Amino acid sequence: MTDSEHLNSDQVLALFRESSALLEGHFVLSSGLHSSRYLQCARVLEDPARAERLGRELRLRLGMLKPTVVVSPALGGVIIGHEVARAFGVRHVFTERDASGHAVLRRGFALNATDRAIVIEDVVTTGLSTREVMDVVRASGADVIAVGSIIDRSGGQAGFPVPFTPLARLDVPAKPPESCELCRAGVPVVKPGSRK
Ligand SMILES: [Zn+2]
Repeated sequence: MTDSEHLNSDQVLALFRESSALLEGHFVLSSGLHSSRYLQCARVLEDPARAERLGRELRLRLGMLKPTVVVSPALGGVIIGHEVARAFGVRHVFTERDASGHAVLRRGFALNATDRAIVIEDVVTTGLSTREVMDVVRASGADVIAVGSIIDRSGGQAGFPVPFTPLARLDVPAKPPESCELCRAGVPVVKPGSRK
């Protein structure tokens, strides 16, 4: 694969599997639900070359757009947002949560009314955090022209009022333990991230 070639969805997911960012088996998610898949985007982004490649791919897919800034939510969106901004040659700012849990720009980050922002996430699950970032951008008077993410695991449910470009769609099924087929089949359950 050369740098100028597009990464298709399968190649993106292959990068995840190679870096143990996508595990298949029987897992307890942080919600307490059980799943046959576990996604940990930080693992694919821990390799700067992979992070850069994914950022460049998002830039290619976002094609003709001419953003002036990339905005992403901390913590998950920071690395990929930075890489997309690098690929576009624009600046990158990120939102954080204040004491009352609202997404805000801190650290002197500012947007102005002439800014055209692309909002970048690592994983879109419900779309809620993405919409919070969009609200922050709009409250500053700037425009949101697109949303991009590495993974869309919303099952097509995350609707945005601007074009949404994920590099791959992934279903992460989740069930309560009492209705989990893997439990019923006696497959040992793993809690990812925990030390043995
Ligand atoms: Zn189970």
